[in-house]
Parts: sequence; C-alpha cells; structure tokens
Amino acid sequence: MTDDPHSIQSRLADVARRIAAAAQSAGRDPASVLLVAISKSFGEEAIIPVLEAGHRTFGENRVQEARAKWPALRERYPGIELHLVGALQSNKARDAVELFDAIHSIDRGKIATAVAEEMARQGKVVKLFIQVNTGEEPQKAGVAPRETSRLLRTCRDELGLAIAGLMCIPPHDEEPGVHFAFLSKLAAELGLGCLSMGMSADFETAVAFGATHVRVGSEIFGLRPLHSPPA
Ligand SMILES: *Cc1c(COP(=O)(O)O)cnc(C)c1O
Repeated sequence: MTDDPHSIQSRLADVARRIAAAAQSAGRDPASVLLVAISKSFGEEAIIPVLEAGHRTFGENRVQEARAKWPALRERYPGIELHLVGALQSNKARDAVELFDAIHSIDRGKIATAVAEEMARQGKVVKLFIQVNTGEEPQKAGVAPRETSRLLRTCRDELGLAIAGLMCIPPHDEEPGVHFAFLSKLAAELGLGCLSMGMSADFETAVAFGATHVRVGSEIFGLRPLHSPPA
C-alpha cells in the first residue's frame, strides 16, 4: 500500500471515483458499471498492486499474452474475472474459452461457432458480447451495424449462445458520444442489457450513455510501451 498519488493504486481509486461520479450525474447506480482494468502489455509488477487493492476484473487483448500471465495470478488471487477484449481467431477459441470469463469480440458466425463448440466441450459458460463496428471502418473488427441482428439470431437460434450485450470502439477522430448513443439504442432494440464501451479517454461519456462495462487501461496502468500492438 502506498499514498503516492501517482501509484497504480491511487490511479485505480481515481478511475473508480470518476466512474461513480459519472454514474451519479446520469442518475445511475454506480454499482451498475463494472470497471474492466485492461492490463495488456503490463507484467505482474504492475498488476499485483491492483489485485492487492482488491480489484478482480481485468481485460487482455491477446490470448497468448493472457495464457502467459494469468494462470499463476489466478492461483494466488481467488475470484479473478478475465475479459478478452481483443480480436479472436477461431483457432484460438479453445484457449480463449479456457482462459477467459467473458469475450467482448464476437463479430462473425465463424467465431461464434468455434466459441459455442468449445463452451459445450469444456462445459463452461463464458459471458459474450457482440462487437459492433459502429464507425463502419474497413480495417476495424466488429460486425456492421445492420448485420448485428442477424448475427445475434445466428448465435441464439442456431448455436444456442446467450449474448449479454454489445461492444464498440469508436473511431479515433470522431465524437465518441455519438457512437455510444448509437450502440445503446441498438442494444435496447435487440433487448440486450450489457454495453461494453468507454476507454481511458472517454469512459465518463460512456457511463453517461449507459455503459455497463468500461475498459480502462492507460488511465490505471500508465502509458503502454510504444511497441505494443494497436487495439
Ligand atoms: C487497449 C484497449 C482498451 C484500453 O485502452 P486505454 O485507452 O488504455 O484505456 C480498451 N478496449 C480495448 C478493446 C483495448 O484493446
């Protein structure tokens, strides 16, 4: 424990306070927003202070990195909930279902099928989000907005998968609130309760638009090394 205002623990507490304040100003229960601490590219020395502070919900964007980091930490700290927030290849579905409690990046039938098969094989239920490419950016992961309801039907009716909600990453150069409002409306139309949206730069805006899961990395852990892969 430390009182250093720049320590990871005080940054974590600060993010939690800002989430609670944003929820309160939006007339929401602060407990309805889950902080997913995105620890990608950071090692144990950065993650352990967050675990010691009592936080248990973390996110990674790469299956292999999670495999290297988390099994040992899970043994030491009970109750960890691990979220995959990065793109998933179907040949990594086995590892992903084994390692993660939630997957935020279901964006096509092939991935949904691979995840459904692994959940059945492993007898494990993983919380699932459909990632929507709200900015319709060609290079970005996510299902096109107009294809979302069809993918949802495939998941539910053909694969028997429960989908908890929707996730998005707004384009860098656009007002994020527009995308959060859009995702929130789409989720409501589809009858989905969870919204994974908001990162370090915009999580308070996301909370105002109804985020139930905010994914915050650098605001807690500091800047990532330059060589770390993009989201
Ligand atoms: C890295 C990442 C985050 C966290 O980004 P920060 O800006 O560091 O908070 C959130 N979501 C996804 C999908 C990411 O890849």
